[in-house]
Amino acid sequence: MLTILAAALQAASPARCTVELVVLGVSQDGGVPQVNVQADPAWEDESLRRRVVSLGIVDHEAGERFIFEATPDFREQMHDLNALAGTEGAPDGVFLTHAHIGHYTGLMFLGFESMSASDVPVHTLPIMAEFLSTNGPWDQLAGYGNIDLQVMTAGQPVELTPRLAVSAWDVPHRREYAETAGFRIQGPELSVVFIPDIDSWEEWADQGIRIEDVVMEDDLIYIDATFFDNNELPGRDMSAIPHPRVTETMDLFQDYPDDIRQRIRFIHYNHTNPIRYEDSAETQEVLDRGYRIAREGERLCL
Ligand SMILES: [Zn+2]
Ligand SMILES: [Zn+2]
Repeated sequence: MLTILAAALQAASPARCTVELVVLGVSQDGGVPQVNVQADPAWEDESLRRRVVSLGIVDHEAGERFIFEATPDFREQMHDLNALAGTEGAPDGVFLTHAHIGHYTGLMFLGFESMSASDVPVHTLPIMAEFLSTNGPWDQLAGYGNIDLQVMTAGQPVELTPRLAVSAWDVPHRREYAETAGFRIQGPELSVVFIPDIDSWEEWADQGIRIEDVVMEDDLIYIDATFFDNNELPGRDMSAIPHPRVTETMDLFQDYPDDIRQRIRFIHYNHTNPIRYEDSAETQEVLDRGYRIAREGERLCL
């Protein structure tokens, strides 16, 4: 797997890929800068803005593209995905992890007041599908035929094209309205894991899945980097706040070989997380320790 990964990463031009992944957003639900944080430098410097977490996948041979999460930045993210794919209109499929604002509210742009899409397949685990089909305004999207809810069964792959399949895990994360999915995206050569939100690696292990095994089995792992460490929210005891810290995940894989650690790409960072800045000491620490940080616009051949 290493040679394939290395070859894919070194491919001179991602445009030659049959199936391609693009990072469309990297921030936690609230975005960067976040509302009411008046002092955030990103208000003045647009280069510091970060869109909410999302991945796009394009199968160039099939002429189809898929988006993971429908975020508050869905308009821009669909624009960029269509530009990359050379297409227009609604995506050929949407995959949603869960019912927190950064991950699904962009669905509204598929509806009557905006693009009025037709039958866009929206893939979710069962409780999420139930939530969307029984609560306004989301039920209107289903009722008007803007979206076509496709209920996934955890562990059972959905075949999207002859070269692309997606399966879901049910991962531990606070579930007011629905469960939370993590996804495994199987391309022709690489498999990519996308877990933007999870409460802890231990709780997942208690459910029978160890992140260590996932990292060994898959080629690229985009995972929850909401907080860097426990010093990030001054004046607050962070011990009760979920999410594996970036430092904790790095410690977990500290003794693994370089080629394993470099599979891990941190994503879904909070506006307080210093890895949002490409020139911060914390970004440098992550890179020095052999890990990577997901950045908007990065493209990979799958
Ligand atoms: Zn989130
Ligand atoms: Zn969440």
